[in-house]
Amino acid sequence: MLQGWDIENFLEVKNNRLHVSGVDAVELSEQHGTPLFVYSEPRIRHNIERLKKSAEVIDCPLKLCYAAKAMSTMGILRAIKDARCDIEVNSGGELWKALKVGFTGDQIIFNGTSKEDWELRMAVENEIYAIQVDSLYELSLIEQTAEWVGKKANVSLRLVPEIETGTHSGLQTALLTSKFGMMPDEAFAAFRDLKDSPNLNLCGIHLHIGSQNPEPHAYAEAFKMLFASMRRIYEESGVTLQHINLGGGFPVNYLRDATQKKEFPDEQREMFAADFEPSEAIREAWSKVKNSAEQSGHAHLLENLTLLVEPGRSIVADAGICLTTVRNAKQRPVDNGQRIIDNGQSEDEKLSTFHYPLSTDNWLLTDAGFNILLSMETYKWYYHLISAERASDKHDTEYKLAGPLCDGGDVYFDHEGQNRLPEHRLLPADVQPGEVLALLNCGAYSLAQASQYNGRFLPPVVLVKEGGETELVRRREKFEDLIGSDL
Ligand SMILES: *Cc1c(COP(=O)(O)O)cnc(C)c1O
Repeated sequence: MLQGWDIENFLEVKNNRLHVSGVDAVELSEQHGTPLFVYSEPRIRHNIERLKKSAEVIDCPLKLCYAAKAMSTMGILRAIKDARCDIEVNSGGELWKALKVGFTGDQIIFNGTSKEDWELRMAVENEIYAIQVDSLYELSLIEQTAEWVGKKANVSLRLVPEIETGTHSGLQTALLTSKFGMMPDEAFAAFRDLKDSPNLNLCGIHLHIGSQNPEPHAYAEAFKMLFASMRRIYEESGVTLQHINLGGGFPVNYLRDATQKKEFPDEQREMFAADFEPSEAIREAWSKVKNSAEQSGHAHLLENLTLLVEPGRSIVADAGICLTTVRNAKQRPVDNGQRIIDNGQSEDEKLSTFHYPLSTDNWLLTDAGFNILLSMETYKWYYHLISAERASDKHDTEYKLAGPLCDGGDVYFDHEGQNRLPEHRLLPADVQPGEVLALLNCGAYSLAQASQYNGRFLPPVVLVKEGGETELVRRREKFEDLIGSDL
């Protein structure tokens, strides 16, 4: 029987067990322990090919730069490079990793709000494709650095348009109230003043409207705004830009299995279930801009343009799962909202007015907490949960799920009482300690944000390749790793 979460040739059930690109997930958990991240290289490739389809709907080259911050374990970066994708980095550390794994300078773009001298120097020395500049101050630093290094720096200015999307407020990045980018007027002035700088190649403009955007039209809006800026730059300074960067943020449908879909408030549901083809959003964006460019006699500006996109989530999120074991179980009364209020009654009076709940919740405590899935706590993110051992059994029994950390917030529901997540998860009946479960769509912003909080070892990562070969691309941490940097 097909499950809501099935994806042909990737996430399937055989002998009632979850398989990832043909490999038995339970066997992997036995070999490597849990928690364990499992990534599928064929799925990563599929996602990259899907994004590359955008090249077919525009009349200019497309440069696809994977946003490394979503997941930057070396084995995953290698898989992404092998799939012929370029890369976007957000720090000197990520730049170093990208170079080390074999990306060349012309494959790298560099974002960030607080770049340091050494990071800029490294970027200039390696002649990267573009440093995406966040302020006029930073632009002056880059100019000095480039002069000192003796190489011209390729720069692209990050603009901050007012584009609001329906994503989580913490994931909005294109608002004047956000911390990113510069005002368009500042950028125009920079092009006027610095176009002849011997140290700078002012080659592009950039914008990123935020992550998990539910609205495909936001890309058309973004591109229109960028093209209007490109036009103004051309008119005011005579510079024809070499590239426009539309950012990332293409959504992943976290509610593809819709069994619990109705338990979300409207806004959350719309965001988690967001689903559109990136190439359709880009097609719309391109055709709108092209039409208006032709009508206004500015089609020449599009002639030697390269369009950049820098998605992270849509490349790795659904390609990775997290296997976790139930380590503890308990029963707890259902919270019926009653509280013992001290009105000065006697103990007997208090007890006589307090009605114990008739029903209880089954609690399961796993080894995967917010130390490895931070968004679960900070953004109340939803990762669909199934039994890896009984994957095709009916998932119709309610459980309260929680992780191993000593924080009340380390739970798989909204402990702040705002009901942004379902109160219970559905699993087969009678789940006991020892059963291996799988959290789906965990490939992005998980291990990349993980910490050793509570003295927990960071988990290993297995990469499943085409044909079912597996490679351990990150080992489980050991005691020594917990103190490796302590002096
Ligand atoms: C995070 C980020 C991205 C990637 O966003 P996704 O939602 O993972 O696609 C792209 N560009 C910038 C500037 C970012 O900060």
